[in-house]
Amino acid sequence: MKTAEQCYGTFGLSINASDEEVKTVYREMVKQYHPDKNSAPEAREKFIEIQQAYESIVNKNFASNRQHVNMEDLFSQFGGFDFGPFANSIVHAGRNQDRSFSMSISFIEACLGVTKTISYTYQSACKGCEEHSKQHGKINVFSCSQCSGLGFLRRNVGPVSISQPCGSCAGVGTMLKCETCKGQGAVPDKKQISFKINPGMEDGSVVKFDSQGDFNYKTNSYGNVFVKLSITPHPTITRNGVDVFSRLKVPYLDCILGCDVEFESIHGIDKINIPPLTEAGAIVKKSNVGINNVGGHFLTIDVEMPKLINNTEKKLLNKIRNLKLKN
Ligand SMILES: [Zn+2]
Ligand SMILES: [Zn+2]
Repeated sequence: MKTAEQCYGTFGLSINASDEEVKTVYREMVKQYHPDKNSAPEAREKFIEIQQAYESIVNKNFASNRQHVNMEDLFSQFGGFDFGPFANSIVHAGRNQDRSFSMSISFIEACLGVTKTISYTYQSACKGCEEHSKQHGKINVFSCSQCSGLGFLRRNVGPVSISQPCGSCAGVGTMLKCETCKGQGAVPDKKQISFKINPGMEDGSVVKFDSQGDFNYKTNSYGNVFVKLSITPHPTITRNGVDVFSRLKVPYLDCILGCDVEFESIHGIDKINIPPLTEAGAIVKKSNVGINNVGGHFLTIDVEMPKLINNTEKKLLNKIRNLKLKN
């Protein structure tokens, strides 16, 4: 079945044309292409095309070339995730033209941003069909023999006649004749897309690339490509918005006396000052080292006790203890 644009297009009219205008052009074209009067090999096909287009316009029965696609269906193979800004996307009909990929990126890549590439094989528009279209003004189609070009088959069930879309031509009424693509309208080709992921990407984000999917000659359009990104967790660092969090082991004496210690930030090894008398569980913050250097890195302090203590240390610590007791 054809879209309204295609049906009106058959008569060289826009979809705003009145029924009267359609009728006038239809009559002229019927005279021109009637197989009894026109012996050109393509006249019969054109005649059928005119009939079908006219019938569709009269009955206001068109294929929709755009449709709302339930994104949950589209990505059901991924399991549940947040569809975010694409929840209400309008994509081309024929979801089998769309391609979906999933990609894992590391926690640090998600924090700092990264450029990624996907490579895939897709269905590219057939050059043979395009060449024919250039030379003859349309792709090389012939009427489907199964349904005589009607696009549907009638079946009688008792007294009732039921119309079903023709399986051979998928309800189009025509089939494609091309040696290059063997009537598929498209041939496999390889494609690469490089894309930038901005710093602070959220887990489950979906990136959409318009018209990078498979070609379908029936809709004369390419599907879209969707890449679902998932973040591989970091072994020690977590994130919330622009802030990052981790734990830091600090030797007990450094906690008492204060010190500068190194810690692993999302940008690499960094330093932070631990103030004197820092308690276990205290949180120290280094500002402007979070996402986009805006947020902070929050470190929860774990006081590190020695595994062993020698006699000299014992004596010295006892001295301190006695000193404290005297005070
Ligand atoms: Zn072809
Ligand atoms: Zn058919």
